[in-house]
Amino acid sequence: MSQSLVGVPAMSGAPRNVMHFINGEYVPSMSGKTFADLSPVDGREIAVVHEAGQPEVNAAVAAARTALEGPWGKMSTPERMALLHRVADGMQKRFDEFVELECLDTGKPFGECSHVDIPRGAANFRVFADLVKNVPTEAFTMQAPDGADVLNYSLRVPKGVIAVVCPWNLPLLLMTWKVGPALACGNTVVVKPSEETPLTTSLLGEVMNEAGIPPGVYNVINGFGPDSAGAFLTQHPDVDGITFTGETRTGEAIMAAAAKGLRSVSFELGGKNPAIVFADCDLELAIQTTLRSTFVNCGQVCLGTERIYVERPLFPVFVERLKEAAEKLKIGPPKTPGVTLGPLISQEHRDKVISYYRLAVEEGATVVTGGGIPDMPSDLAQGCWIEPTIWTGLGASARVNREEIFGPCCHIAPFDSEEEALRLANDTPYGLTSVVWTRDLSRAHRVAAKLQSGITWVNSWFLRDLRSPFGGMKHSGIGREGGVHSLEFYTELRNICIRY
Ligand code: NAD
Repeated sequence: MSQSLVGVPAMSGAPRNVMHFINGEYVPSMSGKTFADLSPVDGREIAVVHEAGQPEVNAAVAAARTALEGPWGKMSTPERMALLHRVADGMQKRFDEFVELECLDTGKPFGECSHVDIPRGAANFRVFADLVKNVPTEAFTMQAPDGADVLNYSLRVPKGVIAVVCPWNLPLLLMTWKVGPALACGNTVVVKPSEETPLTTSLLGEVMNEAGIPPGVYNVINGFGPDSAGAFLTQHPDVDGITFTGETRTGEAIMAAAAKGLRSVSFELGGKNPAIVFADCDLELAIQTTLRSTFVNCGQVCLGTERIYVERPLFPVFVERLKEAAEKLKIGPPKTPGVTLGPLISQEHRDKVISYYRLAVEEGATVVTGGGIPDMPSDLAQGCWIEPTIWTGLGASARVNREEIFGPCCHIAPFDSEEEALRLANDTPYGLTSVVWTRDLSRAHRVAAKLQSGITWVNSWFLRDLRSPFGGMKHSGIGREGGVHSLEFYTELRNICIRY
């Protein structure tokens, strides 16, 4: 079997060679086309990535179909679940390699990768393997017109070959969040990682082989979106369902592709998430948590906070405290001790975020802190560094308050009543998450119920129980995943009706 080479020791300094993973083997592109994966920390080439054309996508989908109809489809549920636990064990065994590669690709602080991204990656296999074993089925008895007894019961069967199209912000975590339940439900997958972050998705192929997952169950093709691997995969007629995480605009393009052949979709899309801070809140906890929800992963978290509404008496204090906390964030590379803020993912994304920093000023914002590019040592000068930024003074119609920026920034505005806070928070085309800060239990329930978002956190953020539903309202998504809700997408529910 060919080698993935993602495991080339970092000490060698050579760029890694990232191929596709099809039918249990690492294979190059037939066309010989490759592209460069650049470090967001210093701009150096960290990997040469093979770009899939139609032939590689066809081969990956065909391998997934064969595995579905072959060994994987014939395996008993307990056998399949045992293998998925072995995948999680294998990830745990190679934990350090996963952390190393994820830090290399994203530039995020080492602690974030080792405490959040990689452990959640392994958990995504364990949780869904255990869940699927324990899901009950429903049964109804009735009588036929002639008096014969009739039993109806429901049977879940795998949906088929699932295309998994992923973003770059939490590469392994978000990819396994889809692959875990898809495989637990008996499907096979073809994964298209983001062109920015292919490394850990590629390494997982080795872990799948080591765990004994049959060839063709987990396939990976690398490339871009339009006119490349992403489009070829989502347009492929032999794909039965598409699960996608990424920008709302991309979701629209994928939905158009899915319309042909009526393939079902599950979409987790963009957000412009609000936090409402009432004056009676636990201020210290609200500041420390909002610091994370706004700036962690350099603001590149779909669930993160970009709009903050603070009850007027607390407004000046809250702005001052968040400013002080943001100015203490330490910018730098993943392994430098004490670093809390990494770079943005790419120069292209930094150009986009900086264009919003400029726009905020043009729209009349007061820059409370940040607003530019920090001075970095010469060896990091080619990195995608950016300052954490806070604005005040903009109205609800300002573009900076309406469009997803996906950077380490937020706008803070005062409000005078619960009704006004709700109106401002809900005044957005998005509906992914929201946060409420208050010590008043009745108000917490009242406000949470009226917020238009898939998740509302009260006095917290990013707490996730994988058994609970996850997804966005309005332009933030279609469908729910998590717990039994994942089964709605990854299986077909059949009715068997027996007259006896
Ligand atoms: P993106 O939409 O640019 O790309 C996501 C993936 O789609 C990539 O693999 C890309 O190559 C592929 N793609 C792009 N165009 C395509 C096309 N026409 N056909 C098929 N595939 C295509 O998103 P991104 O920049 O990688 O990620 C950031 C975005 O993801 C933000 O909007 C963020 O809010 C969102 N996001 C949402 C969630 C959530 O749970 N709702 C989670 C993470 C990120």
